[in-house]
Amino acid sequence: MTNRIAEGARRKPRTKRLRKLRTSIAEKGLDALLLSQPENLRYLSGFTGSSGWLLISGQNVILATDFRYMEQAKDESPDFEIIQTKRELRDWLPGLVSDLGWHKLGFETNSTSYEFYHKLSEAIKARQVNLDLVPTTGIVEQLRSIKEPEELGFIKKAVELVDAVFEQAKTIIRPGITEKEAAWEIEKILRQEGSEGMPFEIIMASGPNSALPHARPTEKIIRSGEPVLIDMGARISGYCSDFSRTLLLGKADKTLQKIYNIVLKAQTTAIEGVESGMDASQADQLARSVVEQAGYGDAFGHGLGHGVGLAVHESPRLGPSSSDSLADGMVFTIEPGIYLAGQGGIRIEDMVVLENGKAKVLSKAKGK
Ligand code: ZN
Repeated sequence: MTNRIAEGARRKPRTKRLRKLRTSIAEKGLDALLLSQPENLRYLSGFTGSSGWLLISGQNVILATDFRYMEQAKDESPDFEIIQTKRELRDWLPGLVSDLGWHKLGFETNSTSYEFYHKLSEAIKARQVNLDLVPTTGIVEQLRSIKEPEELGFIKKAVELVDAVFEQAKTIIRPGITEKEAAWEIEKILRQEGSEGMPFEIIMASGPNSALPHARPTEKIIRSGEPVLIDMGARISGYCSDFSRTLLLGKADKTLQKIYNIVLKAQTTAIEGVESGMDASQADQLARSVVEQAGYGDAFGHGLGHGVGLAVHESPRLGPSSSDSLADGMVFTIEPGIYLAGQGGIRIEDMVVLENGKAKVLSKAKGK
């Protein structure tokens, strides 16, 4: 009984999401949309398999997958018509589309290859099906960028988990341990505490390695006086968290101490200044101008942040060239950094949610 109630509660947001998606499909003049991006599939249908297609029109909701996922698909997506596919998409899609009378089919350019497009176009031509393949980008991603209360609840759990593990990480990261050993110790705790796998590989970069924003943990031994950059996340019910701190062990070098304070000021300025309705590029500029004024503009070589949800990197993008704009309900990171080649780098990253026009920080973990 409880299960049925829970399933009903889960279906409700999906019905709402489908309604919004159908509005977008109609606005774009499409008959239907073909989706393959796994997080989009999960968001709309609940299906968590790694291979499948969704076909959504005004009337139909179809989940097409192969033998391996049939039972899972029926279980996870009870409201969808499930089709078992044999062979490749080009072998079954043209026939299905012509049966349903669709002439304009949108597809996702972000998650489909040129080869896919080419083969499907050839198959449509060969079968003389009257069908236009229409490239689309970011339709579902845009819906996903505004979080519903239930989604925010899962994200908060993933953030809390990382906050708690960070307290233990501070004692694990000590002089004498290698980056790899420290990363593995922390990964074990994240998994034991309930993270569903790792949303991304932990970054554990000490000394000069911390100047590489996406360094991989190495056999290097962590030493006193070095900066140690840790970037980690957890996943709960499919939803991710993303968090970075830079620990300055022992007596830190003066330059690193100085850039730490600049990065912290840049982050605080952005958190306080970010507002709903603002362009994401403007938000980036809030932090960037602090770093530029301190003379380190060239050493902040990445965007200010990114949306986090079912994917660890999703809409909105906060960077100088972003065309996104910010709105209530969005969850994203604010993570300025300064990286000095050969010396070391500092990054401080927290997740925020936009509520009532302003950013609310989700992580409780303190710095240093
Ligand atoms: Zn991040």
